[in-house]
Amino acid sequence: MDQQDITLQEAFFLYDAIPVQELLSLGNDIRFAKIPQSRVSWQIDRNINYTNVCISACKFCNFHCTLSQKDRSFTTGIEEYKSKIDQLLEAGGNQVLLQGGLHPHYGIEFYEDLLKSLKEYCPSLKLNALGPPEVSHIAKVSKLSIKETLERLRNAGLDSLPGAGAEILSDRVRKLISPGKPDTCSWLEVMEQAHKMGIGTTATMVYGHIETLEERIRHLFLLRDLQHKKPSGVPGFTAFIAWPMQVKGTLLEKTFPIGTISAVEHLKMIAISRIILYNIPHIQVSWLTIGKELAKIALHSGADDMGSIMMEENVVSSAGANHRINKEKMVKTIKEAGFVPWQRNQDYSPYNPGLQEGLS
Ligand code: SF4
Repeated sequence: MDQQDITLQEAFFLYDAIPVQELLSLGNDIRFAKIPQSRVSWQIDRNINYTNVCISACKFCNFHCTLSQKDRSFTTGIEEYKSKIDQLLEAGGNQVLLQGGLHPHYGIEFYEDLLKSLKEYCPSLKLNALGPPEVSHIAKVSKLSIKETLERLRNAGLDSLPGAGAEILSDRVRKLISPGKPDTCSWLEVMEQAHKMGIGTTATMVYGHIETLEERIRHLFLLRDLQHKKPSGVPGFTAFIAWPMQVKGTLLEKTFPIGTISAVEHLKMIAISRIILYNIPHIQVSWLTIGKELAKIALHSGADDMGSIMMEENVVSSAGANHRINKEKMVKTIKEAGFVPWQRNQDYSPYNPGLQEGLS
């Protein structure tokens, strides 16, 4: 199948002017052209939040608090990490997704100590840690360049970078919903540097709030164009994940009229993402926000990956995402959709239970 960059006009045409079923079929055709096997990948990992203290105060976030909110704020201690890692290994997982707030006082040494301690405890553990806003923030607090920051984090044990904190890569939107967060250029700068250094990352988009369709499409173009720039032989963006913004009880809900995203719109976003991001290997379904039933249809609209069972997700869940899945349900859901479940590691290599040896 001939795959190439499409223009804004072509993207609008595909999204709005052709019948929905044709758009979904096109997404599905590109999926099978890239990944001919009828397998759907999935993973076991665990989110651990290192702190909820954050200076960003994004309007869609119910998770964060300020340093002065002593009754709410936390920083996770090493014993808690160990116990959570033990539970992860017992469940058959081998990766932790480390996420947290932009803490005003934590510099590079805090994160180096944390990553080193986790690797010391479990050398085989994979650390998918710190999205671009966190990396930018650490660099700023520690007066380091992005390259120096990533080098030090990698030397301390960082394996890959989640695509968190992208929301919509438009500074118009970011100024309104997350004015304290690093801007579009900063997000892209961290990812470009990570790719140059051979660190694999994912990419995300959170839509369905105050953005226009054009801003969504331009967000996808920014990702596609950055992926074109990655050096050959390095992973770059390994997967793209989009989900509808969860706003329950958030300041965003009180500030702007936010509608709900229909099932059809979500499926259209999956398909158009697959078409535009033909140079990113995997499109992941966000079962956490859309639920298992819609996820099954998304697997026929361009997606090929169900992501992780996500033991302990607190950030998106605190704004209303209430779907849950375990190992058995994940396998069952993929089979019910007509695919073969294929358990993987973060880098999309086949899952290797041997990686779990090494718990000290
Ligand atoms: S989404 Fe992240 S950066 Fe924004 S307020 Fe919440 S924790 Fe902070």
